[in-house]
Amino acid sequence: MRLVRFDGYRIGIVKGAAVIDVSDIAGASANEWPPVAMNRLIANFDTMRAALDEAAASRAGVPLSGVSLLTPVPAASKVIAYPVNYHDHGAEMGSTYRANNQGFFLKPTSSLSGASEPIVLPQLPGRRIDHECELAIVIGKRCRDLPRERWHEVVFGYSLLIDVVVRGKEERVARKGFDTFCPVGPWIVTADELGDPSALRGRLWVNDELRQDANTRDLVVDIPGMVEMAAAVMTLEPGDIIAAGTPAGVGPIQAGDKVRIEFDRIGEMTLDVVQGEGGRAKFFVDDPGPLGSSR
Ligand code: MN
Repeated sequence: MRLVRFDGYRIGIVKGAAVIDVSDIAGASANEWPPVAMNRLIANFDTMRAALDEAAASRAGVPLSGVSLLTPVPAASKVIAYPVNYHDHGAEMGSTYRANNQGFFLKPTSSLSGASEPIVLPQLPGRRIDHECELAIVIGKRCRDLPRERWHEVVFGYSLLIDVVVRGKEERVARKGFDTFCPVGPWIVTADELGDPSALRGRLWVNDELRQDANTRDLVVDIPGMVEMAAAVMTLEPGDIIAAGTPAGVGPIQAGDKVRIEFDRIGEMTLDVVQGEGGRAKFFVDDPGPLGSSR
């Protein structure tokens, strides 16, 4: 099943080129704050599944091309991100560590945006802002201290994720935390529909130039390992998102670019890059120096 959020607050099932509105089943409403309808659907998916299947089979949809796609889990309790989780990316950054011996960081959920929304660049003239092509893993069940052998019990599904970052030496959460610096979408593909995620090809283009082309078989820490590492530190909640890390080929984006990301068996999304009016973070220096020691 492919689950989307669209048109303000609605939740839908993607069926071919259509979206079937299941907001009523999911209990999604316009004024809900925080917007936790998708978290609730994920947490209760086993009991809601029959009603969702029935709706998918019996209801008419609206064209997918006519709706505005939002980020699937805007109220995720956290976005856990693995840095340097492909050896070739570690080599291109001159990194002395890998995810298996350093762990992970967090991106703020306020940085989440969806497939129909642009990446809005902050007002940081002269600073390099990069794309990172990543697989998103969506957690389905609360867990803590989960051994890797049980990873499949808690993974709900998968999505596409672009980890946008200002290169430099300021704290990573600031450089990676601007609004729209974590596009996730266009939907969640449930784990049962996607099948084995251990050899998924993912690619990213900027203006039709292929920048990144990788396969999850080359991850330093694999998907079971990422779930185990995160759950060793913190309780994972339904709707939490894990960004799996990026392969080689990261590079700058600028206003006017179109960034396209695609993964096998998930789909693709193309985002506009625009210059925003805000984001004048004065603690960002004008000249960050060599990029080799940055993240
Ligand atoms: Mn990343």
